[in-house]
Amino acid sequence: MSNIRLENITKQFGDFTALHNVSLSIKDGEFFVLLGPTGAGKTTTLRVIAGLEKQEAGNVYFDDRSMNDTPPADRDTAFVFQQYSLYPNMTVYENMAFPLKSPLRNFSKDEIDKRIRKAAEKLRVTHLLERKTARLSGGEMQRVSIGRAIVREPKIFLMDEPLSNLDAKLRESLRVELKHLQKDQGITTLFVTHDQIEALTMADRLAVLEHGKIIQMGTPEDIYDRPATTFVAQLVGTPHINLFRAISDKGTIKSKSGLISFDSSQLPQLPNEITLGIRPEDIEIHPNGLFKGRVLLTEPLGVETIVHIESGDDKLLSIIPGTEQIGVGQEITYSILPSRLHCFDSMGQRLN
Ligand code: ATP
Repeated sequence: MSNIRLENITKQFGDFTALHNVSLSIKDGEFFVLLGPTGAGKTTTLRVIAGLEKQEAGNVYFDDRSMNDTPPADRDTAFVFQQYSLYPNMTVYENMAFPLKSPLRNFSKDEIDKRIRKAAEKLRVTHLLERKTARLSGGEMQRVSIGRAIVREPKIFLMDEPLSNLDAKLRESLRVELKHLQKDQGITTLFVTHDQIEALTMADRLAVLEHGKIIQMGTPEDIYDRPATTFVAQLVGTPHINLFRAISDKGTIKSKSGLISFDSSQLPQLPNEITLGIRPEDIEIHPNGLFKGRVLLTEPLGVETIVHIESGDDKLLSIIPGTEQIGVGQEITYSILPSRLHCFDSMGQRLN
């Protein structure tokens, strides 16, 4: 177990700066997620922590000890990748034993066996121990890859999109298992993903990366309820947040069509032109709503239905319980809680 601290890390590949002044600290035993689109610098951050890339500037600390000059093998981190890096001609048992057989470790045969059986049981692969890994399903292979990392009992787990090659159902179940396992073992974990649902459901805390910079850091609730920029607001949440231009004038915010307006006297001083963000679940369709609209389209998802609303030039998404009936073309009224509004400036920075 260990805490991790990155201090002003800058990483360059030639002229290209992949990480700009990245600072973050991960607590002992924490499940920390790095969320960002492709190319944001997530893998590079993991590789710098593991010592596989050397930063041009900044410091990496484990437990307040500088790792800058510590080679990867001595950092005691274990990597799990998106693609399974197993030896296909070895059995599951042999694959899991492999990292323990290094002469540096000097584990007895009994100790190796004990660790493998314990990990196999946790990951529910005991029945597969004698099978060649080439003959496993994707989900089983990823369990074994995780098992191979666990048996080492590292100080730190670094996981690079370990679930993204799996089908949706398997991803969902392994997500829960992985989270349980991590809490059970208490190993500090940095998990990289571009999947916002994975990030929100698994993280104790997360950082959002964009173009090599940390845009926001916090608990899943912080990120979802108070996104720092329009980029973060759009990155998290399904269906996605409604964002539209609005004019703020004399204590009132008005959408372009003028059909949606709010009293802004409770909000901080706003510039004249803003971007307004409203989460679909904050738009409540009911008979006495303040605003008028028409149903353009519905997307029933079972437990809930996404409703596309048109109000003049404004188009909004709302979400209602699947048990409620609503028809395309229906005239409706809806309300929006002013306390749930997100206001951003023209550069996309949060104002309220
Ligand atoms: P993905 O989700 O696609 O894996 P990522 O957020 O993990 O993306 P990185 O792999 O960290 O992104 O890459 C960040 C940027 O640095 C990308 O633009 C990438 O092309 C660049 N990059 C990464 N490694 C190298 C390298 N060895 N040489 C040159 N550029 C690199």
